[in-house]
Amino acid sequence: MREQLVQLGYLGAAGLFILSLMWMSRVETARRGVRAAELGMLLAVVGTLIRHEIVNYELIALAFLLGSAIGVPLAYLMPMTAIPQRTAVSHAFGALATGLIGTAEYYRLTSQGASSGSLILVALMFEMALGFLTFTASLMAFGKLQEILPTRPITFSGQRIVNLGVFLATVAMGAVLVLAPGGVFLFPVFVALALAFGLLLIIPIGGADMPTVIALLNAYAGLAASAMGFALNNKLLVITGALDGSSGFILAVIMCRAMNRSFANVLFGGFGKVQQSDSSKEKRSVRSSAPDEAALTLDGVQSLVVVPGYGMAVAQAQHKIHDLFQQLTGRGIQVRFAIHPVAGRMPGHMNVLLAEANIPYDNLVEMEDINPDMPTVDVALVVGANDVVNPAARDDPSSVIAGMPIIEADRARSVMVVKRGMSPGFAGIDNELYYLDKTQMLFGDAKEFVGQMVKELNAD
Ligand code: NAP
Repeated sequence: MREQLVQLGYLGAAGLFILSLMWMSRVETARRGVRAAELGMLLAVVGTLIRHEIVNYELIALAFLLGSAIGVPLAYLMPMTAIPQRTAVSHAFGALATGLIGTAEYYRLTSQGASSGSLILVALMFEMALGFLTFTASLMAFGKLQEILPTRPITFSGQRIVNLGVFLATVAMGAVLVLAPGGVFLFPVFVALALAFGLLLIIPIGGADMPTVIALLNAYAGLAASAMGFALNNKLLVITGALDGSSGFILAVIMCRAMNRSFANVLFGGFGKVQQSDSSKEKRSVRSSAPDEAALTLDGVQSLVVVPGYGMAVAQAQHKIHDLFQQLTGRGIQVRFAIHPVAGRMPGHMNVLLAEANIPYDNLVEMEDINPDMPTVDVALVVGANDVVNPAARDDPSSVIAGMPIIEADRARSVMVVKRGMSPGFAGIDNELYYLDKTQMLFGDAKEFVGQMVKELNAD
């Protein structure tokens, strides 16, 4: 009876996870999606806890308290802009847990005399290889994103051969352990090879492409969990692992497309090299304006498109932008927000921030829908965006961002750019947009500058 209840709970949890993914793909239903996932996870945890094979509830309670003591402050202290790093750390520990559970199961099975070539051993080896390699790969990704490690790709001659060699050695060692379960002494070599492969996989990838790698590691961790579900005969793990794995792959493919990268490059590394800015270049002048002048200009326009980027997230300027939106729409000005798929540092970054500031969802327009309108727009107000409005992506085939689709702010009748100085964006390259005759640079922190513009408009 208890087992039936547990299985029913697992079924409910799996259904909630599927609904959650569906709901989370739309801004209007995203919150409901998060709640559904939380409820699903609660059902899964309770179901697992009331199953017979739990050995020690005290240790679980202790682990729960320790984990919460680390996790809760982490959730509150990490800023939104550090979400990719935080996700990398979560993957690292999730993958380590998967690897360790696999290890415990492996020793349990072999001590009971597991049969050679058993399917459970195959699933365990697959799960542990993915778990351990995802652990070190995610730690490396965290180090690069947090800039504790060099963000540039680290390459050496014969790297692909070495990578392939370590990969094949891991597979071979796994096969030996499956076919000869008595060779337990070889198990640490298998683990060391998987850990080393995770390191080698990430070092040739530049920091710029790390968020895409994170999506891929998410997929690996999901596949590992799914394999563990087979090994432990836990259907819920099979389902959730498969959901996690496939959604991670889909996200990685979407991000590759948005950034015009080939998926093979992400898989095999050696891409994302940061182009050095040419310091010998002559200094060119730009036109800059103060908040009062900028506010005066905005007051006289009919249509405005705000292009938010990473700088808006850093400055947390979304609430001031909401105030500006209200001021301008109150004056009958059409205000829309152009959303680039990779603006900021994670998919949907701008949508989340603008929704948090209560900007109506209908005023958010996707890149491909806003671009045809840009030539008729009076002002494109770029707030802390750089690469996603860099015309070099469209016009310069030799640029590191060549081919990346952009929001064509340069085609608006006039352009205003809020940023603190002339620093490049994520790709590390100069932006011609700033030097156009129709561009006004609004130098300052986005929150402060936009706040001052709002004050000027209020004072009118
Ligand atoms: P960006 O190219 O990184 O540029 C951000 C700009 O914001 C900088 O030039 C910076 O200039 C400015 N800034 C920083 N702090 C500011 C502040 N407090 N106030 C005002 N401005 C500030 O950003 P983006 O245009 O959003 O492009 C995103 C980049 O990240 C793309 O290259 C994309 O490929 C990459 N990426 C995104 C994702 C994703 O999922 N979204 C994933 C992987 C990679 P100053 O220092 O001069 O102020």
